Amino acid sequence: MYIKPGSMLGMLGGGQLGRMFAMAAQQMGYRVTVLDPAAESPAGSIAERHLQADYLDAQALHELGTTCAAITIEFENVPAQALRTLAQRCVVSPDADSVSIAQNRILEKEFLAGNNFPVGPFIVIHNAQDIHQIDPALFPAILKISQFGYDGKGQIRIDKAEDLPEAFSNLGNRPCVLEKRLPLDREISVILARDRLNQITFFPIPENRHEQGILDTSIIPATLSDEITAKACELAGQIASKLNYIGILCVEFFVLEDDRILINEIAPRPHNSGHYSLNACITSQFEQQVRMLCGLPHGSTRLIQPAVMTNILGDLWKNGEPAWNEILRHPQAKLHLYGKRAAKPGRKMGHFTVLAETIEEALQHTQRIRQDLQR
Ligand code: ADP
Ligand code: MG
Repeated sequence: MYIKPGSMLGMLGGGQLGRMFAMAAQQMGYRVTVLDPAAESPAGSIAERHLQADYLDAQALHELGTTCAAITIEFENVPAQALRTLAQRCVVSPDADSVSIAQNRILEKEFLAGNNFPVGPFIVIHNAQDIHQIDPALFPAILKISQFGYDGKGQIRIDKAEDLPEAFSNLGNRPCVLEKRLPLDREISVILARDRLNQITFFPIPENRHEQGILDTSIIPATLSDEITAKACELAGQIASKLNYIGILCVEFFVLEDDRILINEIAPRPHNSGHYSLNACITSQFEQQVRMLCGLPHGSTRLIQPAVMTNILGDLWKNGEPAWNEILRHPQAKLHLYGKRAAKPGRKMGHFTVLAETIEEALQHTQRIRQDLQR
């Protein structure tokens, strides 16, 4: 049973990931309804319908559940209860249980550690009492709030135990995870698609470089040994199977200096580090998301050419509208903008991807474009 083109698909969340899903869905003949509380949003403005309401609004959920054939999400902070309610009426994937784990760092870490997936040393801090008698070996550390953190927000780097009470209070005394700060050699992510029959396809693995906790650049394919590639895919696939996950899943990994790999976090949706697939793969992560949601065959994830994806943040607007021609006139670069009206520092406004024969060449072109954009 598959969902036919022409059907209405529901998307919870109106951000850029929802927008790129909607574009892929529309390309394949589907229609899209977006539920998002904001009057204006990247996805809401291009979907056939936008329901402007809270994610738990009973009337909006009823409308979505009765008019959509299948429903998915574009960010993990959708209340899991909304997914449970919708699942009584139509196909919902990923399901509420997977999302509730991925949206809560404590549940996520406990799920991973509890199932013997490799994660770095951490402890859970529920309240101020938990702050005492912490193993000094955990420092230097990073304190992360359990919920609603993104792009490095809701995180404080801590060098020694004495600084923990103040950091905990600065994060609002909310439940946190305290992680040992690890000597990272590299960061990579595995993006996969899993269907109802446990068939899994993987996208080529990006290497991800961050600036101030925000993804800056993804380089594809990451230069990895066959062992690390195989291990990362195996682990990510096992996580998806353990969750009985249906849809697109991203698993972020740390590669340590001694070549060990540890799982950082999971995202129950397409991922910023997979945006390169829009231009560099036969099938993008968003098209694959549509395919999984509708019960269609997996598309080929073959890489057409090495690629470098660079995020465009609102900071670039400090001297007015950026000089887009620096990207557009480049024969191997593709520009994507998300239609956001207000450019704020740190806000993801778009990205560009450079394709080339080699990674080195793609990096060189990217570097030149970045310099020209800055002028
Ligand atoms: P977010 O939800 O904001 O993506 P992450 O937990 O992935 O949060 O952290 C953002 C970035 O901060 C990571 O990609 C990595 O660069 C750095 N980071 C996070 N945790 C650690 C750690 N334990 N050790 C070293 N670097 C870390
Ligand atoms: Mg992350």
